Amino acid sequence: MKEKLKNLIELQRVESETATIKSKLNSVAHTLEGLDASVFDSVKELQEIQIRLDELQKQYRRHESDILMNQSRVKKSREKLGYVKNNKEYQSILKEIEDMQLKNSLVEDEMLSFLEQIETIEQSIDTKKSEIEKIKDQVDIEKKTIQQDMIQNQQRLARLESDADKISRQVEPELLRKYKLVKDQTRGIAIAAVNNAVCQGCHLNIPSQMYDKLQRSETLTMCPHCQRIIYWAEII
Ligand SMILES: [Zn+2]
Repeated sequence: MKEKLKNLIELQRVESETATIKSKLNSVAHTLEGLDASVFDSVKELQEIQIRLDELQKQYRRHESDILMNQSRVKKSREKLGYVKNNKEYQSILKEIEDMQLKNSLVEDEMLSFLEQIETIEQSIDTKKSEIEKIKDQVDIEKKTIQQDMIQNQQRLARLESDADKISRQVEPELLRKYKLVKDQTRGIAIAAVNNAVCQGCHLNIPSQMYDKLQRSETLTMCPHCQRIIYWAEII
């Protein structure tokens, strides 16, 4: 029975490592998605800043053309002054010119404020761009490491699966069936050592009348509490 138990213990070790590696491999796609998302988010932020910059630049150009238009109207009005004979009309054209000049100086003030905002946004675009480059470099390094790990894990998985096959073939079918049944019922750990009279599967004490049976290891013994296959740690 000792040899049979040793096979089961080894099978359990191989199967538990297989499960660990499979869960690592399953998380790879998720990790890669997370890395891509960090780049995507930064690029999106950059695009939003650029949209804001475009909008400001458009407003700036609109103001610029408003000023040009006003200046040509001022020029025309000034020309008109030369032909006007009536004082009332003369005063009204002067007022018109004054209003247009006042309007222009207000628009110019606004343009200055736009220029300041444009400068600030251009600086934040530069900062964002270098931040994205750094993130991309970091992501590339992390992706390479993940891919190398993945290849190693896939190779390890293939070896473990073939080991599990080999060991399973050495175990009697009836014992293997029993092991699998317990494994399903106990969510993974089917065979547990008894250390200092304590089952390592459920951490409860094994009744003393079972010590002798366990130490002789002639028959398959189950823990009376958790129903796992148990063995006396010192003899295996
Ligand atoms: Zn137990």
